Amino acid sequence: LSEQWFVKMKPLAEPAINAVKEGKVRFIPKTWEKVYYDWMENIRDWCISRQLWWGHRIPIWYCQDCGHMNAFVEPPEACEKCGSNDLLQDPDVLDTWFSSALWPFSTLGWPEKTPDLEYYYPTDLLVTGFDIIFFWVARMIMMGLKFMGDVPFYDVYIHALVRDEEGKKMSKSFGNVIDPLDMIDKYGADALRFTLASLAVQGRDIKLSESRIESSKNFANKIWNALRFILMNIKGFDPSAFSEESLVLDLADRWILSRTQKVIKEVTDFLNGYYVGESAKTLYEFIWGEFCDWYVEISKATLYDSTEDSIRKDGVKYILWKVSSIILRLLHPYMPFITEELWQHLPCVQESIVISPWPEVDEKFINDVAEEKMKYIMDTVRVIRNLRAEMEIKPGEKVKVVVKPHDAEYSELVKEYEKYIIRLASLSEFQIDPTYERPKGCAVGVMDKAEIFMPLGDLIDIEKEVARLKLRLQEVMDEISRVEAKLSNTDFIEKAPQHVVEKERAKLQEFQEIKGRIERHLEQLA
Ligand SMILES: [Zn+2]
Repeated sequence: LSEQWFVKMKPLAEPAINAVKEGKVRFIPKTWEKVYYDWMENIRDWCISRQLWWGHRIPIWYCQDCGHMNAFVEPPEACEKCGSNDLLQDPDVLDTWFSSALWPFSTLGWPEKTPDLEYYYPTDLLVTGFDIIFFWVARMIMMGLKFMGDVPFYDVYIHALVRDEEGKKMSKSFGNVIDPLDMIDKYGADALRFTLASLAVQGRDIKLSESRIESSKNFANKIWNALRFILMNIKGFDPSAFSEESLVLDLADRWILSRTQKVIKEVTDFLNGYYVGESAKTLYEFIWGEFCDWYVEISKATLYDSTEDSIRKDGVKYILWKVSSIILRLLHPYMPFITEELWQHLPCVQESIVISPWPEVDEKFINDVAEEKMKYIMDTVRVIRNLRAEMEIKPGEKVKVVVKPHDAEYSELVKEYEKYIIRLASLSEFQIDPTYERPKGCAVGVMDKAEIFMPLGDLIDIEKEVARLKLRLQEVMDEISRVEAKLSNTDFIEKAPQHVVEKERAKLQEFQEIKGRIERHLEQLA
């Protein structure tokens, strides 16, 4: 049995416990503090001798003459006690976690007082897994306080475990491993990174599935296509020569500029609080659901209108450029490659997105009234789009719509911005009529401010359509009775595998939903 070196831990642990208690070091999520305290308050002396070849060698030289143990940074020439040259260094190396505990300052040139050490110590944030809170995090804090007189970092973000779709641990024997390299080949590094980040909600494990990564790739495509459209349309336009003072703003412009400021604030606040997933969700919904789907579409009305004056057109180009430059920067931490690539094509910006300043809120663009008005316009368009989908009207086909407003304010609003509605809902005619009575064969949609009518007589042969729908209804009802019979058969329920039964139940629900839709459709045609 050989003799081993130990470190007395209590005197090191005490200041490290206080550093967390006093809030000098914060755990995120905070619940992990308990794990830290549990370890630290029950700490034992640490055996640091390892009988390995690889590692920091223990800096003790045994005097072969007097037996004195010489501890030095550099190999000593002679025994400090008797002057003998016959010295032998301890053959053991330090526990790897001992070396790792020194990492925050040993990598910066310590014990020299280097400019790097001066500048980077302490750092802001350590990101790591919960399983090494004691082995690594706690020991870095203890060593930092001991040798540097200060904590090594202020925030410790404990990240989630990545599990499979059903929450099971990934393992080769289960065959449920999603290999990141395969995913990068298939969907791109940005899609994988965005997926993991958007699923990172504090205190919850990540349930990863390939379909999630695929939908992030679709998001990347959406941004790519939107920016390509924008770049094409602002070609030759010089944003630096354009003064914001000369902006002539339409409702949609005021709305998107206001929403952009709110998103800057939300994303910045989320990131400051390490709400990485929430911030990603905000960006996804804003970029896709508001900017691409609405503003870019609306901008076409101005850009393609030959009667529109150039100051309006330039204003829209300026806003497309400005909002693009903001969303690319906000998205950059999540999708570094695609945002940098697009940034390189954007005029009048810094040479690289990575050195460009983080967007700041511009209070003068915040406009709650415009946001509320735009919400009603968008709601109106959504109701019409739903009617079109329910009535199975082809995407290109233009329809007539009559709005029956409940109040004058809404009535004026849709009158003023009917051009948006006509364009976004593909209308041939848009009428506002507070006294409108529903004729036969007319679809109706309802929103809080109005009823919306879509007369179908000109669009379809109502009699033929009713006959077709009734036939389909009968087919669906036959399917429902077939599945119901199967599910009430105890023999089937008992003998069939669970997932087969589940599949039948899902089928039944789906058929019932289809039945409901056809019945509503038939009511609209009556
Ligand atoms: Zn000696």
